[in-house]
Amino acid sequence: MKAVTFHGVGDVRVETVQDPAIQEHTDAIVRITTAAICGSDLHLYHGAIPGLLPGAIIGHEYVGVVEEVGPHVRSFKRGDRVVGAFHVACGKCRTCRRSSFNQCRYGGVLGYGVAFGNLDGTQAEYARIPYADHTLRRVPDGLTDEQALFTGDILTTAYGAVVNSGLRPGENVAVIGCGPVGIMAVQSAFALGASRVFAVDLVKERTELAAQLGAIPVPSKEMNAVSKINEWTNGEGADVVIEAVGGPATLKLAFELARGGGRISAVGVTAEDTFAYPLMSSLTKDVTFRIGLANIHRDIDATLALVQGGRIDPTVVVSHRLPLEQAPEGYRLFDQRQANKVILQLS
Ligand code: NAD
Ligand code: ZN
Repeated sequence: MKAVTFHGVGDVRVETVQDPAIQEHTDAIVRITTAAICGSDLHLYHGAIPGLLPGAIIGHEYVGVVEEVGPHVRSFKRGDRVVGAFHVACGKCRTCRRSSFNQCRYGGVLGYGVAFGNLDGTQAEYARIPYADHTLRRVPDGLTDEQALFTGDILTTAYGAVVNSGLRPGENVAVIGCGPVGIMAVQSAFALGASRVFAVDLVKERTELAAQLGAIPVPSKEMNAVSKINEWTNGEGADVVIEAVGGPATLKLAFELARGGGRISAVGVTAEDTFAYPLMSSLTKDVTFRIGLANIHRDIDATLALVQGGRIDPTVVVSHRLPLEQAPEGYRLFDQRQANKVILQLS
């Protein structure tokens, strides 16, 4: 089959590789019909994630059709249309039983290298999906591939970040980063009852899409985000801050934007191990800080329902649709910010 493989910084290729096969009784093989390039794939592309061996198949956003199931798979059969979580979880270990699916003892991230379970990715014609009963969901009737696709990753990541913030109806939310994850955080915040959403990004055009969705744009190259949001909140700051970029600079900004008693929920991926935690001001301001991987299995049913019910349209972020063969061009465009979100079409 054809698949996107990693060969070094900025070097991804479409190559012919061996077809996947069922390895465990709980596996399914999915024929991928639509995949996408995620902001998290860019960290691989930049060489920022250690443990990705040359030739590894990458990608983890996918919709497809079940081709084959292992003997212990109960919920799916050949021919079912499915969307899957980007991380896999057994559903049975102690952490899964406590709904911490992203901490599954036997889990991993598809296409993210040795440190994340050494699983092949889904930017490919076929993919092996471990723990299929827990990792996959049937695509609801009437939803297109593109509508369902992001529930397996960025939409549910963004939605989960808002859930983790404990947003209460009527509160205001500052979203830092208006890439696809940030845009979906804007949509999720409104779906969960935010009164106002401030959408911060260095790139003005990225804040404009957020504005079309009802957010107040904060192009932070042109204005001071902290003073603007303070102005709009009577000097209080934001009730909730969602950080959707990754790294110390935007975490620092998140602490500056949060009001006293506010909550920060961060999902941006970073390879930095530490950042300067504002201890004294967090103490006196009583700020709650939360960071973590998305917990797709916990939230995917909610996001699928919100998409099916027409409350969230995740396709607004898509700027490019390319055949799998043009994936290297897709990575280049996405990396250079010429593409907002790239879909790879397989059929
Ligand atoms: P992206 O790279 O497309 O978007 C990032 C956005 O942040 C861009 O619009 C960029 O202009 C903006 N930005 C960069 N620096 C900024 C700054 N200093 N101030 C304001 N804006 C700034 O990425 P994405 O696909 O939207 O994903 C966002 C982040 O979420 C990535 O780090 C990605 O890896 C991460 N992510 C995390 C999880 C998880 O499980 N925690 C899942 C999916 C994605
Ligand atoms: Zn991702």
